[in-house]
Amino acid sequence: MNYHQYHPIDVVNGPGTRCTLFVSGCVHQCRGCYNQSTQRLDSGHLFTQDLQDHIISDLNDTRIKRRGLSLSGGDPLHPANVSEVLTLVKRVKEECPGKDIWLWSGYTLEELTDEQRELVDLVDTLIDGKFIQDEADPSLEWRGSANQIIHRFTDL
Ligand code: SF4
Repeated sequence: MNYHQYHPIDVVNGPGTRCTLFVSGCVHQCRGCYNQSTQRLDSGHLFTQDLQDHIISDLNDTRIKRRGLSLSGGDPLHPANVSEVLTLVKRVKEECPGKDIWLWSGYTLEELTDEQRELVDLVDTLIDGKFIQDEADPSLEWRGSANQIIHRFTDL
């Protein structure tokens, strides 16, 4: 898997202070995409074991407390990304107790394959659906257009 950016301290993508990973690769081609440079799977940099370890350690950093991890892109549910994102999510669940995971995807919850669903079953919040420019609304929290739905699966 490739990624575009990793922000170890982020207060924009999700609630509280967070770690945020923007992965590479997205098939949805939304008109007005806010992150067009991330659409190609081979763009960005290789997501290494070192970076995975770094994210886990940032989430457990007691000096700067993070509420959780945000996964965006690109699309973390791109079929080519699911396996590595699943590995990361499983580690966060096992090694970072109490941290929440938010995930943004261009797929809707109803469209998910069994493999994508396995991953989504481990996240706390999913913001789903393509960005639709005609429904864009800058006043919306955590999403760009009104068709996108915030699914909160847990109280975290
Ligand atoms: S789902 Fe997101 S990253 Fe993918 S094309 Fe649409 S706006 Fe861009």
